[in-house]
Amino acid sequence: MMDAATITTWMNEIAGAVRAERDYLIQLDAAIGDGDHGINMTRGFDAVVRALAQEDDTPGKLLTLAGKTLVSSVGGASGPLWGSALRRGGRALGDAPTFDDEKLVEALEAALASVVDLGAAVLGDKTMVDAMDPAVATLRREVDAGTVLPVALRRAAEAAEVGMRATIPLQARKGRASYLGERSIGHQDPGATSTALIVRALERTVAGSQ
Ligand code: ADP
Ligand code: MG
Repeated sequence: MMDAATITTWMNEIAGAVRAERDYLIQLDAAIGDGDHGINMTRGFDAVVRALAQEDDTPGKLLTLAGKTLVSSVGGASGPLWGSALRRGGRALGDAPTFDDEKLVEALEAALASVVDLGAAVLGDKTMVDAMDPAVATLRREVDAGTVLPVALRRAAEAAEVGMRATIPLQARKGRASYLGERSIGHQDPGATSTALIVRALERTVAGSQ
């Protein structure tokens, strides 16, 4: 069973990971965007960590608060996208003090659906969806097959990284990178890259608690 500590630990892990990769994310976004992705993600998840440190609430409420904090602290596309993802995920967790593997998958499916609703990107558009969709699909398949969660999350993180690398030869069809047209080809999408970090952070969170 997972609980509120799972959410706070996951958010702390994300904040640490995006801070560690801040310059790399900036560099990726400088190639096909405006170079702020590392700044946006670091600022956003630092704000999330601060907001959650003062809260004692259910996992669903904490995830919802994390999403609201991202929306209010990040100006770029990634703020509203991840913000609505976490809010919708938080709502899917409901009011229970704990959640199981199935609820986690449902929350991540809801999070992906909200990114797609808001951003209208499909697989292959060279966005965060290219990492998030295969991660969530892999997690769903593994959990349904009875794979223990730490292993299921490892495979989900691997799927996110495969999807991330697969953005390199694609031409961007959504977001700032799409303004470049064919010149976006040959570069890895920054949002898919941070998404893979976020899935790895969840893998470490769950592995560390079992
Ligand atoms: P901005 O593009 O506003 O500067 P960021 O640099 O923080 O915001 O985030 C850029 C990332 O956002 C892109 O690499 C891409 O993965 C993601 N993104 C942009 N637009 C969309 C969209 N419509 N749907 C899904 N993801 C998107
Ligand atoms: Mg940017």
